[in-house]
Amino acid sequence: MKHDVIVVGGSYAGMAAALQLLRARRRVLVIDAGKRRNRSASHSHGFLGQDGVDPAELARVARAQLAAYPTLTWRDGEVEQATGTLDDFRVTCGGATYAARRLLLAIGVSDRLPEIPGLPERWGKRVFHCPYCHGYELDQGRIGVIATGPMSIHQAQLLPEWGDTTFFLNGTFELDQAAGDELTRRGVAVETTRIAAIDGDADVVLTDGRRMRFTGLFTAPHNEPSTPLAAQLGCELVATLMGVQIGTGESKETTVPGVFACGDAARMPHSVSLAVGDGAWAGAQIHRSLVWPAS
Ligand code: FAD
Ligand code: MG
Repeated sequence: MKHDVIVVGGSYAGMAAALQLLRARRRVLVIDAGKRRNRSASHSHGFLGQDGVDPAELARVARAQLAAYPTLTWRDGEVEQATGTLDDFRVTCGGATYAARRLLLAIGVSDRLPEIPGLPERWGKRVFHCPYCHGYELDQGRIGVIATGPMSIHQAQLLPEWGDTTFFLNGTFELDQAAGDELTRRGVAVETTRIAAIDGDADVVLTDGRRMRFTGLFTAPHNEPSTPLAAQLGCELVATLMGVQIGTGESKETTVPGVFACGDAARMPHSVSLAVGDGAWAGAQIHRSLVWPAS
């Protein structure tokens, strides 16, 4: 059976798109590998009406609501390959092949974290990226920002809104005078000694042996689409401040006709609200492309 749409990635963006298409009674196959980006966090903040909920519960309720639509097929698994052209796409997953007229890549991004011992296991618990998501709960305690490059200056300038901030350059770049002055104006302390490890709740241990205690830490990971499907299909990728994303036009269609992309993998910045909004829009645009194929 040919599906109208295969949605690769059944998290917030993919499900929001699928919901619009299912409500238009379209045949939708969602294939999801189950690795939501926020899977290490126990609470999700900032999504209207769902502030502070468990992000797994948010996804569970959404999936249960989608399952009520008879034209949905859901498959747990990872799409290994995607090929084809408009009206005739194929994806493979665990030995099976599925066909569809349109493809939607809602595959999210991977987070390449700074290589600091003790940091990965605190990601989403004491080490975060987005202050709007996790800053408030630090209760105006001490905050450390770990640089990954010059764009981390902006993160360090913003964080004093949430607590006393120390900026760790960690050998990633050299601060110029103007940026240093701006950080001073914002009351940010700058630390140039490299970090040896993260320890305790959120203690930064420096290579000279000093230990600095924080309530929480922030860092900006390098992001790229979590699996290489867009590149496989020949979709253009574009550079962003954070790494790389799938390029799309206003309708969320990529440079390959019939292949759409939404959510973290295809927009910036990143949050559940923005992924849901982007997905809802992509779903409606894909529906319109099925109704008016030439436009
Ligand atoms: P994702 O949620 O990353 O989902 C992508 C899905 O696609 C995954 O299920 C993945 O397994 C699947 N997939 C990928 N490739 C394939 C493939 N080849 N085949 C099948 N499936 C595939 N935002 C907030 O608004 N509030 C918060 O409090 C918050 N906290 C966060 C905490 C942490 C630690 C992190 C890292 C992020 C947080 N975010 C938060 C951001 C939020 O998680 C993302 O913006 C959101 O998950 C993006 O949704 P998405 O659907 O685009 O991608
Ligand atoms: Mg998704």
